[in-house]
Amino acid sequence: MGAKDRLGQKHIEAFHEIKRLFFPRWDLRGQWRVRHQTPGGHARLGGGRCYSESKLILLSEVSMEKEELWCLIIHEICHSSISGHGKRWKARMRKAAERAKMLGFERLGEKLLKNIDGYNADWNEIKGDWIHGFPTAVYGKIEDILLDCPDITYTILVKYLARELCLSPKEFRKKYKRARKVFDDAKKEMTEWRHPIKNSLLKS
Ligand SMILES: [Zn+2]
Repeated sequence: MGAKDRLGQKHIEAFHEIKRLFFPRWDLRGQWRVRHQTPGGHARLGGGRCYSESKLILLSEVSMEKEELWCLIIHEICHSSISGHGKRWKARMRKAAERAKMLGFERLGEKLLKNIDGYNADWNEIKGDWIHGFPTAVYGKIEDILLDCPDITYTILVKYLARELCLSPKEFRKKYKRARKVFDDAKKEMTEWRHPIKNSLLKS
């Protein structure tokens, strides 16, 4: 067995253990895969990528302590169906950190919380991004609003966002073609994960 295969094996074992301990209701059909990627090119050493559509997590890791690897895998699993490091991704990570502490993995819990902190961008910066209408920021905003108001309808949401962006609802729909899909996906995903919405709001 070559070094790369051994690493691949180590990743697969860690992935399954993490799934069992942290995400028992995720990927029940076992469709997700982890694969080792040689660092270099686009692959950062100690980095990971999550491809939601092909249900694949690529990890480029050479030798890392267990907490480091577990944190990386949890980070990537939290990206399944969520791109970016917004509120919903953070809520998932926070939940995993709480679980780590509950299971007695103190250091892993700390590492996860530190990882979340690394993505706490200045709120004004985020607001600036979305108020300028950058599509990714607007789509991120849709996910944030849903987290706060899970029962909001799509029509009301579009009305609100359009007003904030000085557009008519019709212009909004035309400019942000993926908005409906982002809304539907976020809604579906929230039901699947059953986020502790109230708890995460209290803490944020
Ligand atoms: Zn990430």
